[in-house]
Amino acid sequence: MKNVILELTRIVQNVALVESLTEQVTVIVNSISEVIDADVCSLYRLKANQSMQLVASHGLQCSSDLTIPAGKGLVGLVAKTRHPINIANAHKHPDYFYAPQAHEEQLKGFCGVPLVRAGEVTGVLVVQSHRAKVLGKEKEAFLVTLASQLALLLTNLPNQQKPTTTNLRVAGVKGAPGLAIGTVRFVTMAALKNVPDAPCDNIEESIDEWRDLLTRVKMDISAEQQALSGELAANVSSIFDAYQMLLSDPSLNEKVEMEIRAGHWLPGALKIAIHFFSELFRAMDDPYLKARHEDILQLGDKLFHAWSGHEKGVEALSINEPVVLVGSQVSISQIASIPLEKLAGIVCFEGSSLSHTAVVANALGVPAVMGVGNVKELNNGEQAIVDGNEGAVILKASDAIVREYQTFIGQQRQVASQLTELRDKPAQTTDGQRIRLLTNTGLLADITPGLKNGAEGIGLYRTELTFMVSDSFPSEQEQIEAYQRVFEAYGDKPIYMRTLDIGGDKQLPYFPIENEENPALGWRGIRFSLDNVQLLMTQVRAMLRAAEGAENLHIMLPMVSAIEQLDSFRALLTDACQQLRGEGHQVIQPKVGMMVEVPAAISQLPLWKDRIDFVSIGSNDLSQYLLATDRNNAHVAGLFDHLHPAVLHEVKRTVDAARDCQLPLSLCGEMGSDPAAVVLLIGMGVRTLSMSAAKLPHIKSLIRGISCQQAEQLLAEAMTMTSSRQIRQWVNSAIAG
Ligand code: PEP
Ligand code: MG
Repeated sequence: MKNVILELTRIVQNVALVESLTEQVTVIVNSISEVIDADVCSLYRLKANQSMQLVASHGLQCSSDLTIPAGKGLVGLVAKTRHPINIANAHKHPDYFYAPQAHEEQLKGFCGVPLVRAGEVTGVLVVQSHRAKVLGKEKEAFLVTLASQLALLLTNLPNQQKPTTTNLRVAGVKGAPGLAIGTVRFVTMAALKNVPDAPCDNIEESIDEWRDLLTRVKMDISAEQQALSGELAANVSSIFDAYQMLLSDPSLNEKVEMEIRAGHWLPGALKIAIHFFSELFRAMDDPYLKARHEDILQLGDKLFHAWSGHEKGVEALSINEPVVLVGSQVSISQIASIPLEKLAGIVCFEGSSLSHTAVVANALGVPAVMGVGNVKELNNGEQAIVDGNEGAVILKASDAIVREYQTFIGQQRQVASQLTELRDKPAQTTDGQRIRLLTNTGLLADITPGLKNGAEGIGLYRTELTFMVSDSFPSEQEQIEAYQRVFEAYGDKPIYMRTLDIGGDKQLPYFPIENEENPALGWRGIRFSLDNVQLLMTQVRAMLRAAEGAENLHIMLPMVSAIEQLDSFRALLTDACQQLRGEGHQVIQPKVGMMVEVPAAISQLPLWKDRIDFVSIGSNDLSQYLLATDRNNAHVAGLFDHLHPAVLHEVKRTVDAARDCQLPLSLCGEMGSDPAAVVLLIGMGVRTLSMSAAKLPHIKSLIRGISCQQAEQLLAEAMTMTSSRQIRQWVNSAIAG
């Protein structure tokens, strides 16, 4: 056998040439038989009933579907022992199972290796030969190596179940919660990505045409924005603003002009520019920013439509029944073109839960499911049930299922109206303790939903976004404008602005931090900012100027791990205030605090207390560092839990230390929106929580249903427990009953 790595690379390359997963597994079994010179190579998948289903084979001539019953045969034995079986005379083995439809009488040599994913066997890869021989050690090792790659592919392989005629459930990703039943209405757009390139006839004319187009589309977007009324306008406005911002961004303008000057006709130049910017976002690690590439693609399609003269999402059909909008991507204009009371749900073939379509659907309270793939059973005019709670769509539902969902929907409406009534009610426990609920924001589309859901201020403003949507470090003036929008929206409510927190999983396209072996432990947060003090000075000046005359600015430092960082920042802040006062600005010295994210900070709080005015627990990073578990790594996702007893103990230690030092404390990680965690935090004495806007009403409703005394009792019990699962079950069952 030739070089294993080379062979593996070759197989991977061949696989990449075919698109469907079914074709990919066929390429794999064919390639394996060729590389190791086997007569037969087959791939079996473990089904829910523990039987093994043949999904691809080179060499087996099956007259019908081949499924080996649960625990039977050598294939079953490989799965059971989780160990390769490599023997010369399979037919003499006591576990040999003869499947007549496989016509394998002649096969003697057998080598089977298990496919394992996340600790569970998912299938078996088998090679067989006519000759009675044991497969060579090198070849067996090759199969084992390949099997670890194959396991992933197998998980994603579509189920080859017989098509169901009723209650077809299509799984996607949760976009926006809720349930809805409606009639499918497809929305299509000729995508810019399909436009062919062509030479430009007249460069100057094309550039004029481009500038014209930009002005026209900006006006269209303003008109659409204005046409939206009431609640819809307030929620979606910031997304339209984001489009306007992209359109006004000189880099887009310049890139299109540059491509026209390079000889491309306008649609071709636009296609190149849109591709360039959307890829910049797609390459980002931060999932929110990654999802922004779709907005850029949608904007590209919008520009192209306007250029080709037929912009309109949903045809102006008379809409008398609830509609489920379905498309590859459903644009904001398409959503806006349906009367809100008729918009039952949204289903997108592409996209993630962080797509703007999902953000808008959340803001509007319209259930949405994203990323369902190309579902051929979705037909225009047919009924669909959108289950945004589970991230699924049910097609061809039977009457009984429709009735069931109608009942759920009725119950859901009742709960929703109760939650809306809570908006202006205080978050107060049954024994009268007020809990301050703030919102996390920093994302363009996120500013207003917090207010709408009754946030009492911003507990975490992530400034990174202003930096990430730019193509170079934003100037002081650009930052002032971005921050001013926040002060305008929130008036004199408290605003906690965090200084730039890049590095780790948040990268700037124009300042990549590379070659770090452990980015999460590397040049990030306040470490990066203090080393790039010119950027920090500009940012602090911008914050102070945006808040000129206001007393509600709080500056929060991320990733603090040493007292010197606090001292350096204080010195810089004093300098910034002096500079600005010297320039005639009315600067009010803001309060300065730090996030408790690095575990080292916990024991040091009493020693640092004179340097800070408040602390905020960043439970996401704190859990990551306490548990040594990357918060973005799917392989260890099961280990990442802020209800881990060790995390609870450290959070409690922080709360106690802050109380002893009389430092105001809040919590702004995801823990603050997890109901079980919220109960325990209240039990610890946490009185300020900051969370994403969508979670606010539920958390408020939870708080209004418990007492501090009950929370303290639950905490006392939870602190004696040894596993997060046990703690979660205990608290959840206590609050449910
Ligand atoms: C945290 O770490 O808990 C936090 C709120 O910060 P971020 O999620 O932005 O890292
Ligand atoms: Mg953090």
